Amino acid sequence: MQQTIVALATPNGRSGIGVIRLSGKDAFAIAKGMTADDDIEPKPRTALLRQLHDPHTGDVIDEALVTYFKAPHSFTGEDVVEISCHGSPVLLRQVIDLCLAAGARLADAGEFTLRALSNGQMDLAEAEAIRDLIDAQTTASARQAVRQMRGEMSLSLQPLKDELLNIIVVLESALEFVEDDLPETQIDKVKRSLTDLTDRIRHFASTYEAGHLIRDGLRVALVGRPNVGKSSLFNALLGTERAIVTNIAGTTRDQIHERLVINDIPVSLIDTAGLRETSDEVESIGVERAKAVMNDADLVIVMLDASIQTSPEDREILQKVEGLRYIVALNKIDKLPSTDIDNMIAAEHSHLRYLRGMITPISAKTGDGLDELINAITSPFISEDIGSSGFLITDARHHDLLQRSADELQTSIDGLDSKMSEEIVLIGMHNALKYLGEITGETTTEDMLTRIFSTFCIGK
Ligand code: GDP
Repeated sequence: MQQTIVALATPNGRSGIGVIRLSGKDAFAIAKGMTADDDIEPKPRTALLRQLHDPHTGDVIDEALVTYFKAPHSFTGEDVVEISCHGSPVLLRQVIDLCLAAGARLADAGEFTLRALSNGQMDLAEAEAIRDLIDAQTTASARQAVRQMRGEMSLSLQPLKDELLNIIVVLESALEFVEDDLPETQIDKVKRSLTDLTDRIRHFASTYEAGHLIRDGLRVALVGRPNVGKSSLFNALLGTERAIVTNIAGTTRDQIHERLVINDIPVSLIDTAGLRETSDEVESIGVERAKAVMNDADLVIVMLDASIQTSPEDREILQKVEGLRYIVALNKIDKLPSTDIDNMIAAEHSHLRYLRGMITPISAKTGDGLDELINAITSPFISEDIGSSGFLITDARHHDLLQRSADELQTSIDGLDSKMSEEIVLIGMHNALKYLGEITGETTTEDMLTRIFSTFCIGK
């Protein structure tokens, strides 16, 4: 029997309510010790208003709602108690200390969910979905996480696993009962089924492109020489005064990193230092970092100043982004008439032969063109899957396992093609089944679980 664990289930800090959760065989006894609850068996799944006492001094420390969940009908499958106190950090610490003194220990990150998994309350993909739901940055990614939490991953995988198992059984029983080689027609049938299955797995894996985008979003780097208006655009996009706006060249020295949501996609926007060569030491570090950020970004926005001639420095930046995915924001269009802007865009396109990126005229000052720019940021990444109502793969681990599974099946198909023995062909198929099983945790090792659960927060 595992030791009873305790943790704060709500964030640290002052709040209206703070919830402390206990799980394990002593959970009821520990809570009863604090509540002086006379009930011999507290009523499960009912919130009871109780005074919390310090059992050592007898002092009343708070009035709280205490809810008992009797095993196995609880989140973890063990006896669980949730104590909803007033959200005072001092009080919450005191209640946790009392639980520790009564024999509980502090829960590790994700330990409640890990226990739920061990007790068969959920599968691994569902457990991971809880983490993803808590971490979701947008409603779209929260929606996907809820679907996974409600078992859609297992539901999507089950027919694939059943199908693979059927093919394995056909091949294995044929091996057992047929003396000579399998007839060609039967081999062909197995190959067709395997190819169809591999396609279905690869198709499922391909939804990761959209799923990953919805969950992890884009890294967008904003570059341009000093004073073109990068900080101003940054602020305009954020609607805040987060970045320093100034007309002294070279003042945006550090990278400023902000998160925003554009068209339901989380975007990490990085305002870089001007990409000019400089003798100022602090600024050169910024310049180096800006180059690194550009190379790492999913998209680079190169900003040019429409009110002045494109300089050699601008061109140098445009040359640097060649080969990367980029768009050009032509800023300060409020300073010139629209005919000039059209001419300028036409001129840029014809003069700068390397300028393949899209040019969007904007004014960070008036907000003109910002909607177009926002769409230009996300449109290269939007795929059909994003708008579809289908279930998407959002987790890199799941994507990797699906791909490995499909690769193993392909090896088996190739093996059949080159007339390898059925025993060898079966190895790939069993490996594929194992990888599919790892997604939902049927074939996961202790090591892998430790790694996965270390990404959870404490109290979950
Ligand atoms: P950065 O060095 O690229 O970050 O440039 P800033 O955002 O600090 O802007 C430099 C100067 O240009 C500031 O005086 C801004 O007010 C001005 N500026 C920025 N965007 C615009 C714009 O769209 N129109 C006009 N007229 N001025 C702008």
